[in-house]
Amino acid sequence: MDDHSPRASSPPTSSTGIVDVLVPVALDHTYSYRVPRGVELKAGDVVCVPLGPREVVGVVWAENAKPEPRLHNRLKDVSEKLDVPPLKGELRALVDWVSNYTLSARGMVLRMCLRMGEDLGPERVRMGMRLVGPPPQRMTPARRRLIELLSDGLLHGKSEAAKEAGVSAGVVDGLVDEGTLTVEAMPKPLVPPAPDPSYAVPEFSRQQRTAVDGMRALAANGTFHVALLDGVTGSGKTEVYFEAVAETIRRGKQSLILMPEIALTGQFLDRFARRFGVRPLEWHSELTPRTRQRNWAAIASGEAPVVVGARSALFMPYADLGLIVVDEEHEQAYKQDDGAHYHARDMAVVRAHVAKIPVVLASATPSVETEVNARKGRYQRIALPSRFGGQHMPHIEAIDLRREAPPRGRFISPRLAEQIRFAVERREQALLFLNRRGYAPLTLCRACGHRFACTICDAWLVDHRFRQRLVCHHCGFSMPRPHACPNCAAEESLVAVGPGVERLQEEAAQLFPDARTMVLSSDLITSIETMRSELNEIAEGRVDIIIGTQLVAKGHHFPRLNLVGVVDADLGLSNGDPRAAERTWQLLNQVIGRAGRDQGRGVGYLQTHQPEHPVMKALVACDREAFYASEIEMREKTGYPPFGRLAGLIVSAGDRPTAEGFARKLAAIAPIDERIKVLGPAEAPLAVIKGRYRFRLLVKSLRNVDVSEYLREWLGAAPKTKGNLKLEVDVDPQSF
Ligand code: ADP
Ligand code: ZN
Repeated sequence: MDDHSPRASSPPTSSTGIVDVLVPVALDHTYSYRVPRGVELKAGDVVCVPLGPREVVGVVWAENAKPEPRLHNRLKDVSEKLDVPPLKGELRALVDWVSNYTLSARGMVLRMCLRMGEDLGPERVRMGMRLVGPPPQRMTPARRRLIELLSDGLLHGKSEAAKEAGVSAGVVDGLVDEGTLTVEAMPKPLVPPAPDPSYAVPEFSRQQRTAVDGMRALAANGTFHVALLDGVTGSGKTEVYFEAVAETIRRGKQSLILMPEIALTGQFLDRFARRFGVRPLEWHSELTPRTRQRNWAAIASGEAPVVVGARSALFMPYADLGLIVVDEEHEQAYKQDDGAHYHARDMAVVRAHVAKIPVVLASATPSVETEVNARKGRYQRIALPSRFGGQHMPHIEAIDLRREAPPRGRFISPRLAEQIRFAVERREQALLFLNRRGYAPLTLCRACGHRFACTICDAWLVDHRFRQRLVCHHCGFSMPRPHACPNCAAEESLVAVGPGVERLQEEAAQLFPDARTMVLSSDLITSIETMRSELNEIAEGRVDIIIGTQLVAKGHHFPRLNLVGVVDADLGLSNGDPRAAERTWQLLNQVIGRAGRDQGRGVGYLQTHQPEHPVMKALVACDREAFYASEIEMREKTGYPPFGRLAGLIVSAGDRPTAEGFARKLAAIAPIDERIKVLGPAEAPLAVIKGRYRFRLLVKSLRNVDVSEYLREWLGAAPKTKGNLKLEVDVDPQSF
């Protein structure tokens, strides 16, 4: 072949006969394979390839590849090209970008795009079985069981179907031979009914109309653009960004709406249906394998115009994505810290950038990062400064616990209790907010002072009375609530210290015996369905006093709720994290924002020991500007994000000296760079989790430094981690 001229552009087909394939395993690099005769492969094609003793699904990353000549003869063939829509260039670019930025193995990032089944065995994709033909001539009990199983019209993997029906593989093959079953290449999407962009367009207020115009223009433009939809709680942000979605549907493109917590989207799905006539497609980790299979296919084939999902939905292979909305963009839940460390809001902006599409970040309390981007004009601010329908923002008062303390062993101050009583008498709802699961955060022996701690974490065991157990919130370890102290054997000497939501419910029931109370806390909720039905009960007014953790703070619209009492407003302020003020500001604004959304004036009470704290003062004065101004000034002065950059290296091991020793070794070889400071190693904020000792190095740099590149250079020179020593890289950590 004539390839001596550097100008000669390569022909479009894979003329070298070799492709590089990325496989979804913990590796950065691709493998080269030969393209079998008669097969044509392009970058993005989904293939089966042999990998060691296994067959795996992978994606062609480069066509026309040129492996080292000496390897050429030892290359294996691609086994098969799968009949699945190829991964588009924009998604491959996202995988490369995320892997490069977060230092996660590229294969692991790819894995997030290929979650079509429970696992990634090629069988899942290749061997879908479907019932098509007439029943077989000869019916046996085994055949009947298999046919019954497949009569749901869905695609089943061959071996899974055989196992589930309790038949041998031969039974399956027999029915295929007789034409009763077919083997199909790919799950067929269950085509969802199409949302209608003109189904029920609301009447917008004058303020909303301006924002809606902005939304429609951004969606119609269809180019990369970031808008911050900055609207107070109850201003109608959802109604407004729905118009960007409607416009995107009209343009025939797909929209993705990211939500921080998919369990909380029941009301959202109904609202979507009221606006567009049908519910959108959901994507999250709790879908059954079958739904997951169908939804994946509907997304990849373009048959799902709107997808609502948790952060993992960002990595789906949309056929034609035209818009991303990140609802509650400030939420910490967008940070993924398992496996790959990434922030879904930031990655949404990256995806929008590589796909050249608009992205809307919506929040009543934008993250400081986003707020700064809006102030600098990098993001367009679209503001909704007041509530819809003339409702007022809640009035907020502080209750100084130093002067108005609750009675001993109680946690509701007399003033708050009185307000709750009035609310219940008016047949309105009250919400008591305490971000603490269980009954009490600590159990103590009055006789000897013994405290119940987790044996493998650096944490106290939390008393859970509903479950009658003491539980570690970090590793899940639990034990029955003891009757006697294990240390001094004293009986009836154990006391609960401090409140959790279960204890508050007990107090509320004593104070208001006629009121109906409900505790909402993630550990008491067994499924998304129970969660959704409990939220419905509240929305329908069948509960008087709601007692909840942060689960109740987010996004809900409870028409009869006018009073919110924050039981311990200082709870999040004291942990030494520089983001503590921002988080507290956001959380308390959100939770108090649940009050007074429909009729009547909302009121929020903050029980606090430090009413003079800037966050409490800004809340009471409803002075958003004061909060952001002081917070931005602090970040700028100290060089914290977004005015500087951070990355964490967490070293953990089963014993303390190994972890600490390795962390010290790492610190000793950190490359010198005057723009970068390496702090530590120090014990990580939670020094022991699940029996693993954790040390942390913190990299702090100027804003314009490529921290990922610095880390790559550093870790490239580091000794390999062996045994149970583990090193995790967290670029842009959320707590530091
Ligand atoms: P936010 O998300 O900003 O807190 P929502 O979008 O939840 O606010 O809106 C608050 C309430 O007002 C919801 O019940 C919503 O349906 C209603 N609402 C907002 N805008 C309109 C409108 N233009 N017409 C009718 N109802 C509206
Ligand atoms: Zn533990």
